[in-house]
Amino acid sequence: MLEFLEQKWLIDLIYLGSVLLFIFGIKNLSSPRTARKGNALSLTGMLIAVAVTLLDPVIIEHMRFDIIVPALFVGSLVGLIMAKKVKMTGMPQMVALLNGFGGIASALVAIAEYYENPATSADDTVHFITLVASIVVGSLTFVGSVVAFAKLQGLMPGRPMMVKSSKPINVILLLAVIVFGVLLGRSPQAEEYALAIAGIGSILGYTLVVPIGGADMPVVISLLNSYSGIAVALTGFVLKNNALIVVGSLVGASGIILTNIMCKGMNRSLTNVLFGGFGSDSTTGGEGGAVTGTVKSASPEEAGMILDMAESVIIVPGYGMAVSQAQHVVKSLATLLESRGANVRFAIHPVAGRMPGHMNVLLAEAGVDYDKLVEMERINDDFKNTDVAIVIGANDVVNPAAKNNPNSPIYGMPVLNVEEAKTVLVLKRSLNPGFAGIDNELFYKDNTLMVFGDAKKTVEEMIAALEELGD
Ligand code: NDP
Repeated sequence: MLEFLEQKWLIDLIYLGSVLLFIFGIKNLSSPRTARKGNALSLTGMLIAVAVTLLDPVIIEHMRFDIIVPALFVGSLVGLIMAKKVKMTGMPQMVALLNGFGGIASALVAIAEYYENPATSADDTVHFITLVASIVVGSLTFVGSVVAFAKLQGLMPGRPMMVKSSKPINVILLLAVIVFGVLLGRSPQAEEYALAIAGIGSILGYTLVVPIGGADMPVVISLLNSYSGIAVALTGFVLKNNALIVVGSLVGASGIILTNIMCKGMNRSLTNVLFGGFGSDSTTGGEGGAVTGTVKSASPEEAGMILDMAESVIIVPGYGMAVSQAQHVVKSLATLLESRGANVRFAIHPVAGRMPGHMNVLLAEAGVDYDKLVEMERINDDFKNTDVAIVIGANDVVNPAAKNNPNSPIYGMPVLNVEEAKTVLVLKRSLNPGFAGIDNELFYKDNTLMVFGDAKKTVEEMIAALEELGD
């Protein structure tokens, strides 16, 4: 029945179709409006690729469907449960784990390929080098991702560890990989060398990620995502599978582009993220130029009265909105203000929150119209003509020190010009710093009013106050 699949060109053509679906999927993921379609396209591409691989007569010959079918079922079920249960704030951890699974899968496939025929593995030099690289990058990605997961989940200390010692250790480990690679090439049957390479790759994953602070993990996860793509592409070369090569390269390239975007948004180099020992914890901490002055605070009722008069409002969400899960009440506040005639928009900073697109995803989940979400470059000049800027759980992304204090660790990072609005309402629980661990002079400005408390509760009280004031 499946004889037609014996034609290699036909399989490659179907793979090409699924690769095109991945490319269009990624393209659609670039906007929240089309992101669901992008997911559906990529999912279809993946289903087609898996089905064709399983139905390939060459593969059918060697396959144990009694193992594969239950494994597919269990894997899909675990994935479904994870996806349904994960909270938005736990998304970086989940992505870390999924990258790790990609890495270990590539390493295991490469090891299996080696065991299948050790002698031929070493015959062809290019094939052999890609096989060794696939084992190293795959195992490194797996262990690195598990460490990233453990740091974010609080299972390991978030602070940077082994910051100084890790560099020489990494160099020694890399040299060891080369030595064992050469030994394996000379004695292909000596499987202890192959296992040693996998072991060294795993240790390298650990020593590469432990020196990085917990709060920098999202950038590292994006980088590991890129590594997992590279591991897949290498496995594609080992198996001579075009779909794996193209898809692995796509993931590798998009992961590195995303890492670059995140670093730019934080005004830091990748080297500084990887070796700087910055962002010692995933919550707050660290030192920073202390700001002194007088802070003015307002109650949610007073904030409601100020909003009563506002004709233009810009809402600036940040990590604290995610923590307090305030997105739904924030949407209700925006709708209420609009119903009272105000022009309401949301200003989205590229690294607000703890992962790319964090704010877009939360606000889209709450049903905020995509047109209301305006990127920083497009809205920054509008603050000066705005009556009220409401900063909800954001801190670093609205810190003017990034523009006017050359000694600040965040100097040069692009930030939102909220201080230019007539009145700034800052909703957070205390004067505590955010991710970068530095004070924020915005809190001390004459036109700033701090509304202390959990963001969700404060917004609910502001809504109640506004409703009480009537139309
Ligand atoms: P910040 O981390 O600067 O600040 C968040 C603020 O939220 C805190 O100061 C905290 O203050 C407040 N907060 C926490 N919980 C609550 C709550 N329940 N209710 C109200 N407020 C709360 O967040 P930003 O979004 O402004 O900036 C993101 C930072 O993360 C940037 O420095 C960025 O570089 C970094 N980063 C971003 C990544 C990304 O991809 N988006 C990746 C890695 C890092 P308090 O405790 O007083 O309430």
